[in-house]
Amino acid sequence: MKEAYLYKKLDNNSVQCNLCSFRCKLSDGQNGICGVRKNEKGTLYSLVYPKTIAKAVDPIEKKPLFHFLPGTKAFSIATVGCNFKCLYCQNWEISQYPLEYDKIAGEYYPPEKVVEDALAAGCKSIAYTYTEPTIFFEYAIDTAKIAKGNGIRNVFVTNGYMTMEAIDMMAGLIDAANVDLKSFSNAFYSKICGGVRLKHVLESIEYMKEKGIWVELTTLIIPGLNDNYDEAKKIAEFIYQTDPSIPWHISRFYPTYKLTNIPPTPVQTVEDIRQIGLSAGLKYVYTGNVLGNEGENTYCPKCGELLISRFGFEIKLNSIKNSKCPKCGEKIDMVWS
Ligand code: SF4
Repeated sequence: MKEAYLYKKLDNNSVQCNLCSFRCKLSDGQNGICGVRKNEKGTLYSLVYPKTIAKAVDPIEKKPLFHFLPGTKAFSIATVGCNFKCLYCQNWEISQYPLEYDKIAGEYYPPEKVVEDALAAGCKSIAYTYTEPTIFFEYAIDTAKIAKGNGIRNVFVTNGYMTMEAIDMMAGLIDAANVDLKSFSNAFYSKICGGVRLKHVLESIEYMKEKGIWVELTTLIIPGLNDNYDEAKKIAEFIYQTDPSIPWHISRFYPTYKLTNIPPTPVQTVEDIRQIGLSAGLKYVYTGNVLGNEGENTYCPKCGELLISRFGFEIKLNSIKNSKCPKCGEKIDMVWS
């Protein structure tokens, strides 16, 4: 077991974990809400270091990150566990594993080996993904340090519930993040995701931007739960105030886990919400999980020229030259190297 980063010792062998905004106070022998951090006699340990439950080489577009090293491969890893309990989690078998089975699973896979395999696979980045990387923070940060030394970038695919202290540690190591902004309603976050508060997610997004992390956002639109156009407008306004160049991915829901009684999102709803984002002044708004939709492409925010044509996660055409639109010369916000 690895001693945890970011915790405080309290009286009577208790500790407080300061990694995510739940800030669990744990007495001796107790596990955190995430199920993967345990207080043993006044010392907090990560139970998932370095135990990978899933690994794969993915296109960076799958994260989704459309404006960060486009067309490259990301070496992706995850451990079991999550601090959220989303009723529609696509990866619930691994994210909820510690709580469902009361144990930890995973292959011993140390940071040095992760980086070695990422290099061998020709990946330009390592993505900490599939489950919530915040809860395997020590593993991710230690791997990220070695990756940096080898010219590999690091990416979090996250629910954005880490503390400001955690973001301070990420700065300079984690280059990009796709943050799930699941809703703009506290009631949604509380009921659907397990006692979560929206405010902390918004603060993380703003602070990551402040710290120089490239940020893209994803919102999965679930019929009857967060498909309200007024709510979409509020999300768009928040993004605009934070930075209109933040790419926003509007994703189509398919029934899964505990929400199998809800039908898939109508494509029209996803397209309408994309238009709401564009009308609010956002420069890059995408549709997700709608294969072949024109919302998968990147257009020049000034003249509307088609710049990057995609089919799913594949780039079919890229006409951006020197980070600019070839037609009107507008600078396109993108991290190339
Ligand atoms: S990371 Fe886990 S233990 Fe720490 S505060 Fe969050 S839920 Fe609690």
